[in-house]
Amino acid sequence: MMVVKMKKIYQSPLPYYDERLHDICALVLHCSTHDADEMVEVLREKQLSSHYIIGLDGKIIQPVDDAKRAWHAGVSRWREMDNLNHYSIGIEISSPSMGQESYRDAQICNLIWLCRRLIRKYRIPPVNVVAHSDVAPQRKPDPGLMFPWQYLADSGVGLWYDLSDAKKVSEDDPAKLLSVIGYNIENISAASYAFCRHFLPQLVEKCSDIKWLLDNVYPSDYVFPLQYINVLKACAYKYSLLKNTKMRSIRSKK
Ligand SMILES: [Zn+2]
Repeated sequence: MMVVKMKKIYQSPLPYYDERLHDICALVLHCSTHDADEMVEVLREKQLSSHYIIGLDGKIIQPVDDAKRAWHAGVSRWREMDNLNHYSIGIEISSPSMGQESYRDAQICNLIWLCRRLIRKYRIPPVNVVAHSDVAPQRKPDPGLMFPWQYLADSGVGLWYDLSDAKKVSEDDPAKLLSVIGYNIENISAASYAFCRHFLPQLVEKCSDIKWLLDNVYPSDYVFPLQYINVLKACAYKYSLLKNTKMRSIRSKK
């Protein structure tokens, strides 16, 4: 059996959180241009927070306890969850390019270790391991087109598609397929582009101007390219198949 070495988690508390009223059932992955320690200070200035931060060398910092509701996702939606802060653990990963260049091996290795630990502990279903851009497609581009989603899925974190599943799906309306996966389709251009960022990054334009990227998260006239509909179908199949591992019962609000 492979022995995975325990990693050190540094504590650097931030006071920006509140009480959780719901069980944890999602992981939201972010990126930030700052390295880990600097990121804590940036969050402090903005009066925001995150449960974990992973630095450029893989250093893991925990500013907020899992049991508390950190402030990382903002206005967001995924599947039946409105405002992901209620349901999720937020992880920020340092990326000076905002995910436009490759992440470092040490970061991804420690991220996978951390995610697997959280997934096991809280029984987080793979359909709920998401990007900030998946849950806030109109507002957020992180963790960016170079984030290695397929590698993570192969390592037991989240889901990837198997193209051969496409033929099992008769639905061919992109909006319906995106909705089955979990996207909020109120803005179909934004949802389509977020899907591509995650599953078809070769269709997403690389951008070295970070300010521009943050101000122009998606092309407002974006239409899902129908020659890739099979990727969308294969994803919808995988996500609907596994939806029975769905959210655990949610405690009623106090
Ligand atoms: Zn984010």
